[in-house]
Amino acid sequence: MVERRTIALIAHDKMKDEMAAFASRHQGLLAGWKIVATGTTGGRVLQACPGLDVTLMKSGPLGGDQQIGAMIAEEKVAMLIFFVDPLTPMPHDVDVKALMRLAILYDTPMALNRATADTLLPAIG
Ligand code: PGA
Repeated sequence: MVERRTIALIAHDKMKDEMAAFASRHQGLLAGWKIVATGTTGGRVLQACPGLDVTLMKSGPLGGDQQIGAMIAEEKVAMLIFFVDPLTPMPHDVDVKALMRLAILYDTPMALNRATADTLLPAIG
């Protein structure tokens, strides 16, 4: 049996509705993936789509983004959907930079907004 690939989902602050809507729109495709998500984001995705295979990491401020960063460094993540909230101040700034740096370094396909996420997931599928 082919092991399913892993997609990481993270949404900061007010972007959680956007992530839940993304998961609902692509529920059929996401059913073919293992999902890892930061705690609150993953909870919202599961609420919207209870059938998906979602593993919850710690909440972002408690290290969840870093846990996903470590998985990227171990090349265990095939795609990253990372919705940073551009309208809040910068308390997540260090986490954003660290995670984006690793995704760039490991050449992980990464979407930072809805239009890219809606294009990337079906393209990789
Ligand atoms: P959360 O983590 O999904 O647990 O909120 C993301 C973040 O806000 O860093």
